[in-house]
Amino acid sequence: MNTQGLNKRIRLIMELRNKGVIDTKVLSAMERVPRDEFVPAAVKDQAWEDMALPIGRGQTISQPFIVASMTAALDLSDRDKVLEIGTGCGYQTAILARLCRRVYSIERHKILLARAEQMFESLKLRNVTAIAGDGMKGWPTMHGIDQAPFDKIICTAAAREKPPQALLSQLRVGGVMVIPVGPSGDQMLKRYHKDTVESYSVRNLMPVRFVPLLPDIASESGAPVDDDDAESERALRSTAEYGKAGRILAEGVS
Ligand code: SAH
Repeated sequence: MNTQGLNKRIRLIMELRNKGVIDTKVLSAMERVPRDEFVPAAVKDQAWEDMALPIGRGQTISQPFIVASMTAALDLSDRDKVLEIGTGCGYQTAILARLCRRVYSIERHKILLARAEQMFESLKLRNVTAIAGDGMKGWPTMHGIDQAPFDKIICTAAAREKPPQALLSQLRVGGVMVIPVGPSGDQMLKRYHKDTVESYSVRNLMPVRFVPLLPDIASESGAPVDDDDAESERALRSTAEYGKAGRILAEGVS
């Protein structure tokens, strides 16, 4: 990595610290995972800015501050088994993989999943298992094996009204789930602690804007993954994370 690249990384880590991320393990994972390798060529020069960016299929890689805050809220230990819904480009997955025992991740867009898996391979992340599926249904029983319950669950797409029941059920008692909840434009990042089999303590972390959780595996019709910039721009316009840091708002497009 050249000096300029290194400076950009250090600047981002300092910015995250200034914004209130104090967990040193999380900050060090954010420094080491190459965010620039996860994003499309067209936005690589912005990879170390604290902003959400398009990743194709109308989806976005979250703003680093949000990734760091969600990861810190999970309070990970290296013994934890983590379920992630919304693999996307795999960036959040890679951060988790550095801080826990194993990550199980579900993505509804097969084409995004395939690219994310290439990244896990090239970064030699051996503790990630990712599948295409509908994460609202939780991790499926495979070859007669149940991976649930999970110590921690992270969902990077927003549930409209409440977290999917299957995810709450797959969280172990004493476990933590972090998930954005609410309709577009009015979402809150929430942290659920599972107190007993049927009761939870819930804390509001911060207002956020995420793409919605959608049912089923996505159909693969439409433009190839690198050609759907218009769709990605639409998704970005709906993310405050991007707007605040904002190229789009700065240009005066609402
Ligand atoms: N964590 C990702 C951000 C992904 S954006 C990253 O770091 O890149 C949210 C992702 O959730 C999108 O890729 C979207 O396709 C996926 N998603 C939405 N609903 C889903 C569902 N029901 N099951 C699995 N993935 C889902």
